[in-house]
Amino acid sequence: MTAQIISGTELAKEKRAQLAKEVEQLKSKGIEPGLAVILVGDNPASHSYVKGKQKACAEVGIRSILLTFPDTITEAALLEQIKQLNADPSIHGILVQLPLPPHIDELNVIETIAPEKDVDGFHPINIGRMMIGQKAFLPCTPYGILFMVQSLGVEIAGKHVVVVGRSNIVGKPVGQLFLREHATVTYCHSKTKDLAAMTRQADILIVAVGRANMIGADHVKEGAIVIDVGVNRLENGKLCGDVRFEEVKEVASYLTPVPKGVGPMTITMLLHNTVEAAREYGHQQVQR
Ligand code: NDP
Repeated sequence: MTAQIISGTELAKEKRAQLAKEVEQLKSKGIEPGLAVILVGDNPASHSYVKGKQKACAEVGIRSILLTFPDTITEAALLEQIKQLNADPSIHGILVQLPLPPHIDELNVIETIAPEKDVDGFHPINIGRMMIGQKAFLPCTPYGILFMVQSLGVEIAGKHVVVVGRSNIVGKPVGQLFLREHATVTYCHSKTKDLAAMTRQADILIVAVGRANMIGADHVKEGAIVIDVGVNRLENGKLCGDVRFEEVKEVASYLTPVPKGVGPMTITMLLHNTVEAAREYGHQQVQR
């Protein structure tokens, strides 16, 4: 079997075209969706991610503002900035690019963002609401992965989803989203014994570890759907995923590439959440 490659770029393009129409409609009602991005320090990867997010906002007509601070900013000063954005009716989404310098407590920062502006879906209130099946902003990477799999038109209910990785931003929430869709979910992590025996049971295998090429054909059941979330930079400067693409392509039914797989979908779901935030709470701006 040779896998069909799921193009995150193509899917993202379609979804962004639809979002651009929704932004037009909101603007005609006097609501201009606005995203504030906070960037602390000069981590080159963070700068590049922020640039990508701002470009994507422009593409669909979302107004984005960038607030940059040196890595010497105090936690108190950063929290104050967030509180100002919480109170600003022209801002519907607030994103703080992680990681933050070690002297700043990330959870304090995330918890200061008003849950109705938490378009990254990292606030414990949104995570809790997601867990109990309530309306919530869903974290962008897991949401993008679900969107990708749903776009294939395959039935998720009853499928065995195996997630490798249990971080708060990818592994844990993506398993929960598939559980919500009635999949049977298994989590694997660094203490899992006989990883290949676990992953070979997967109808849908989601790998979010951050170790180049760790998953090979021997980890994958014939016909499985394989989603590679990992982004690793090789010594030659090239990006690669956690999955050995060429090898797994011969076994899986569907496979995502790296780059141009999950990455573009992550940003697209950020745009989706920002548009949703404006639709839900943007009337405050009109009343101003
Ligand atoms: P973390 O480092 O927070 O989590 C990695 C997870 O992998 C941990 O749960 C860890 O287990 C597990 N792990 C480590 N080694 C092994 C192993 N040998 N076998 C099984 N599990 C293992 O990473 P993130 O979740 O933040 O990110 C994962 C990857 O996804 C990274 O490459 C990141 O760059 C990428 N990413 C891509 C995004 C995109 O949009 N494309 C967005 C976000 C992340 P334990 O908990 O036991 O330590």
